[in-house]
Amino acid sequence: LRSTQIKKTKTVCTYCGVGCSFEMWTKGRKILKVQPVPEGPANGISTCIKGKFGWDFVNSSDRLTRPLIRDGNRFREATWEEAIDRVARGLMRIKEKYGGDAIEFIASSKGTNEESYLLQKLARQVFGTNNVDNSSRFCQAPATTGLWRTVGYGGDSGSISDIYSADLILAVGTNTAESHPVIATRIKRAHKLRGQKLIVADIRKHEMAERADLFIHPRPGTDLVWLSAVTKYIIDQGWEDRKFIEERTTGFEEYRKSLEPFTLDFAERETGIPREQLIRVAEMIHEAKSVCALWAMGVTQHQMGSDTSTAISNLLLVTGNYGRPGTGAYPLRGHNNVQGTSDFGAMSAYLPGYQKVSDPEARAKFEKAWNCKIPEKGGFDNNSCLEAIEEGKIKAMYVVGEELTTTGSDTNYIKKMLSSLEFLVVQDVFFSETARFADVVLPACTSLEKEGTFVNTERRIQRIYKVMEPMGESKPDFEIIQMVARACGANWNYSHPSEVMDEVAKLAPIFAGVSYDRLEGFNSLQWPVGPDGKDTPLLYTERFNFPDGRARFYPLEYRHPLFPDDEFDLMLNNGRVLEHFHEGNETYRSPGISEKVPNSFLEISPELARERGIETGDMVRVISRWGQVRTVALVTDRVSGKELYMPMNGRGEEAINILTGRIMDPDSHTPAYKELPVRVEKI
Ligand code: SF4
Repeated sequence: LRSTQIKKTKTVCTYCGVGCSFEMWTKGRKILKVQPVPEGPANGISTCIKGKFGWDFVNSSDRLTRPLIRDGNRFREATWEEAIDRVARGLMRIKEKYGGDAIEFIASSKGTNEESYLLQKLARQVFGTNNVDNSSRFCQAPATTGLWRTVGYGGDSGSISDIYSADLILAVGTNTAESHPVIATRIKRAHKLRGQKLIVADIRKHEMAERADLFIHPRPGTDLVWLSAVTKYIIDQGWEDRKFIEERTTGFEEYRKSLEPFTLDFAERETGIPREQLIRVAEMIHEAKSVCALWAMGVTQHQMGSDTSTAISNLLLVTGNYGRPGTGAYPLRGHNNVQGTSDFGAMSAYLPGYQKVSDPEARAKFEKAWNCKIPEKGGFDNNSCLEAIEEGKIKAMYVVGEELTTTGSDTNYIKKMLSSLEFLVVQDVFFSETARFADVVLPACTSLEKEGTFVNTERRIQRIYKVMEPMGESKPDFEIIQMVARACGANWNYSHPSEVMDEVAKLAPIFAGVSYDRLEGFNSLQWPVGPDGKDTPLLYTERFNFPDGRARFYPLEYRHPLFPDDEFDLMLNNGRVLEHFHEGNETYRSPGISEKVPNSFLEISPELARERGIETGDMVRVISRWGQVRTVALVTDRVSGKELYMPMNGRGEEAINILTGRIMDPDSHTPAYKELPVRVEKI
């Protein structure tokens, strides 16, 4: 290879929310190596298997390279001109016939911030609707709700460096070693080098549970109970941080009274966690000088996801674990840019920078800048829009980079709803399952083929640079969304994503000082960013994000989750495996990874396997109220008793969301993916 042909480009991982950055060495379209460098702000020289080896999908022969238009039961290739014309005419027809509120827009949490901003601007400015959302609805929206209620911002309260420097990590419902591997590496290192303590609360004995100083195993869906009981015990012992509570919070007395039902006896009965372990959790929190609480889908994907997230934040407030290095709340974001997609306004109730659509001043500011009228009522989100389709309120959708049929809850219902739409546009890198229902399919390009910014789990904004040219006729979402907007009559002419960022900086105070110059290379900024470019690695050092600057205790009540019954006698949990990302659209197209983990499986405990006569390798049928799947059994003591586990990378007949249903957290509308009673039959 002649060195002049080899190029080195900075990019950011397209998989999880850790936001690892690295230099990618390429020759033409060939990826030679991924090289993490010390100046990578989130990861330094670390990556996991996906960031290092999960890039073959970029050159996959499955890539969409030309627009497709439905022609009866088939699709035919079309020019961009024809496809965009079809999209514009289709969407405008729905707007004229039913109004803009009959269209739902879904932004991609793998797209850039600038692309999310443009999609929500298209929805609001051109179609006059707040029906826009992103996949945070499917994962961390409850965590955001819990933090909004108590501390004011929905994002992680500090940085990955705080997680490293904490005295104690309380990890609830997070399989960190597989879902956020580089953060798990930091915790393992802190444990070894600094003597950091680790409490893991989970229903599955994964790697971090094995490594924990204390592992507790609650009954599925009962985290709120033990969290509240531990908090009550801390207060009963007089271990609360009285000075912090008096100086920095409001509502403590009412909250303290609300904890009365959460005695250790009640918690032991309801959660199955022995009383001694509950006391030990309280003691370890009391003994630690600084505590970081980490949580993920094991908490949020339940009917009480928002309330349980709130309970975690209440516990941190009671013990004064906010606003100091090594403290705080860390809901670990799933997609590489699920934080940014929300930050930049692809949310049904929020304009960019978390300005409420219900706030007349915020609305007036955007209406003036965009010369339009924005409805004051929030729109449908990407979960509640499905029932809105059934009720005849949503007639068309524009779905950007979201594999809705596989990742939404209740696949059969979603397919039925999509097939009843009058018009569907899907914009993606591959011909997804969702694309099968589309009228027009637009070929988007990957993160390596465009510029823009991502926001990782620690609110860190980072630039990505173009590593290679788009494959075939595929285009960045940045260009496609503008083509659609112009065809629908908008006068948009952004020539580079930096111009979008400049517009956002003027309209959203938390991004006031963000510019591409300040993000050059491996530079990054953690929002909120002041007009002078000063960013905020650690929130709440002086004030919480409420008008009086004080955090708010939020009283909670417990409601029973779905428990197994006679017909569905087992409880099915689901989540990631290290090697795959979600449904595996990208990782299955990276042969080194897909050969290692070629399919899904069902984890069964040794005791249950013995009782049911099931052995590793047996084919089994898993049946829920909403559907059934076939998969292969794996007998393991990672799960126990009548609890099962299936990774979410199953495809076709193995896809987990064939089993999940339409129950959800009422506060965030996040599906209760993990509250899933099933039965199992050996085939
Ligand atoms: Fe880092 Fe996550 Fe990418 Fe792994 S998947 S390299 S931990 S960003």
